[in-house]
Amino acid sequence: MSVLYRIVIHGGAGVSLGRDYGEVESHLAVVIQQCSDKLENGETALATVEFAVAALETSGLYVAGRGSAPNSSGMVECDASIMDGAQNRAGGVCAVRDLVNPISAARLVLEQTPYSLLAGEGARAFAIENGCDRVADPDTYYRLPVGVLADELLHPELTLSHGTVGAVALDREGRLASATSTGGLFGKLAGRVGDTPLIGIGTWADENVAISCTGIGEAFISAGGARDIIARMTYGKETLESAADNMLQAVAENEGDGGLIALDREGRFVMPFNSDGMKRACAGDGLKTVVAIT
Ligand code: ASP
Repeated sequence: MSVLYRIVIHGGAGVSLGRDYGEVESHLAVVIQQCSDKLENGETALATVEFAVAALETSGLYVAGRGSAPNSSGMVECDASIMDGAQNRAGGVCAVRDLVNPISAARLVLEQTPYSLLAGEGARAFAIENGCDRVADPDTYYRLPVGVLADELLHPELTLSHGTVGAVALDREGRLASATSTGGLFGKLAGRVGDTPLIGIGTWADENVAISCTGIGEAFISAGGARDIIARMTYGKETLESAADNMLQAVAENEGDGGLIALDREGRFVMPFNSDGMKRACAGDGLKTVVAIT
């Protein structure tokens, strides 16, 4: 057993300068400590990233789970995915309605089906049959996430608000995992699905690297997302840092903003973003815990 363990989480790159993110900072500090304690006590990377993302979803402070914004038809549709680097297996759900923790549905897809992605009504029915909590009263459950103004819900065309939550972890057995969950873009068309549930774009984990992305999904899809970082490292022999920066540069060239968290098996990690900020935190053995927004 290695002494090395790491957890990095994000609460999305949709940050507006000048707004008060104090509640988010306090929450990230609690969640990162809980995750670090779990890994220290031998929890798996897979269970830890699910725990982190579920905590962020349930809080309602971020654009995921309870903080998800309605689409242009007035409904909340969520996307989530999770990948276990040790098994090279992934699961995801997309355009799924009224589940408390879409990330737990994604893990069920990973562990209990031969599939990688379930969509819409089928995903919801599968999740509920397998014990996921449904939102009892959607009219009262959802709340405005921190840093988003009510006007932005009414006029999403004025500011393309968005957000996501994610986590990457390295456990003491050397296993990597990643998880990502989102309410997507505010005012999106019903049925629109972004990068978050797409394995290899919004989420990736293998034996060497775990990645979770956040930002304008269409730009990440065009840039190749997480797998582009892996390709740059594998074939181009780039470092993790340079590969992540270059993929984000391609996102910017596709007129997208956003960021990502990436962690390798040696415990090295990066948290770059090209937006005004990215809610983020990291912790691990021998590491000073950091919580930051801008
Ligand atoms: N990537 C998400 C999406 O496009 C949004 C975000 O990360 O802010 O659905």
